[in-house]
Amino acid sequence: MNDSTLAPVFAHIEDNRERFIARLMDYVRHPSISAQNIGIRPVAALLKGHLHSLGMTVETIETPGHPMVFGQLGDDPARPTILLYGHYDVQPPEPLEAWISPPFEPTIRDGRIYARGVADNKGQHFAQLLAIESLLAVHGGIPCNVKILLEGEEEVGSPNIAAVVRQHADKLRADLVVTADGPMHPSGQGTILYGVRGVASFELRARTAKRDAHSGNFGGVMPNAVWQLVHLLATMKAPDGQITIDGLTDDVLPLSAMERAAMARLPLDLTAVMEEMGMTALDAPAERGYFERLMAHPTLTINGFHGGYGGAGSKTVLPAEAVVKCDIRLVEAMEPDAVFAAVEAHVARHAPDVQVVRQGAMAPSKTPMETPVAAVLRSAVAVSRGGQVLEIPSMGGSLPDYVFTKILGVPAFVVPYGNADEANHAPNENLTIDCFMGGIRTGAAILSGLGAWRS
Ligand SMILES: [Zn+2]
Repeated sequence: MNDSTLAPVFAHIEDNRERFIARLMDYVRHPSISAQNIGIRPVAALLKGHLHSLGMTVETIETPGHPMVFGQLGDDPARPTILLYGHYDVQPPEPLEAWISPPFEPTIRDGRIYARGVADNKGQHFAQLLAIESLLAVHGGIPCNVKILLEGEEEVGSPNIAAVVRQHADKLRADLVVTADGPMHPSGQGTILYGVRGVASFELRARTAKRDAHSGNFGGVMPNAVWQLVHLLATMKAPDGQITIDGLTDDVLPLSAMERAAMARLPLDLTAVMEEMGMTALDAPAERGYFERLMAHPTLTINGFHGGYGGAGSKTVLPAEAVVKCDIRLVEAMEPDAVFAAVEAHVARHAPDVQVVRQGAMAPSKTPMETPVAAVLRSAVAVSRGGQVLEIPSMGGSLPDYVFTKILGVPAFVVPYGNADEANHAPNENLTIDCFMGGIRTGAAILSGLGAWRS
């Protein structure tokens, strides 16, 4: 990082504060609600205009659902290439009556811009575009090649991104992928995320007879579907917390020394977390650290269990049918297909009459912290935010980052620009002006730092 190239860019960003805020407000005024198919095409067209005005080559990538917008600036094989990912669709704004100001009439209150999509994700990828614009304005060029992919259906589960990345792998090829999405740590410290857990959802269905029966007339004769699932579930996870599905954890990659060290540096107020949730104990096994639970281990969660009678009073019924819904959160390098196969083999061995129904799945993703280009992000976040950089080896939740790390084979990082209380997906979504301005600075510092990398 060269401070003499970055300082005038930061000054330019600050000088344009009011204009940049006004332009973000113009952008978020346009609804683009993927779930309701409202305003998607007009916003895609608007974005194409923004990318054009930066001098980018722009194209629309059609999908069976909503289109993606792709732009590229620079094509010099001697320079590193960054792929920026974001999404221009937003969540439905309902319930409308819970908004203090209408969701698509952006309003500033107490240093925050309130509007649907302002943080998730329009304000964050708009900050990337303004970072490019600011570098161009001050230095007349960007010291690396920039590609940007803006999806129009992230909020409905990115059903087409894997196919698009597979089909356009050459076009999307880059040295790294950076996503600015989600909130930063509540402390406001700049954050870099290196991975996400995957997920595999399935149902177990038991049926022991054509219909429910009288628990006296058939009790002891007809097998009980609920007991069948209870016994099966008990073979899948032990009371000590260990998952006991054969072969399930075979592919789990242990955390590296660097990941363990980063995990140990993450701030945590466990008492506050437990008080907030009203928990008196942590899940078994007891000896695992808080972040180790989220980053290093898969889970087997019973999402719901249905069967028999649960209404008022009693009903002496013997249920013929029961269903349990489960998800398994996957850590690197578990594979959804192998996980489903392990579950099916386990069920075939322990309860051959129970049916396994595969549901949605998403692979985990992890970029090693040792990846050389990560150093560029560390110093970019430090120089643009000040203070300590929080490095999170993996988040507990799931995002389709595997399309970049596994299909494209490129290191992928999430560098969130949003405030921790951004209220994304909820009424009164907001982005603090500080976070927005910080995001533009971070974006510029990443591009600038990447120019110096390998040179
Ligand atoms: Zn979202």
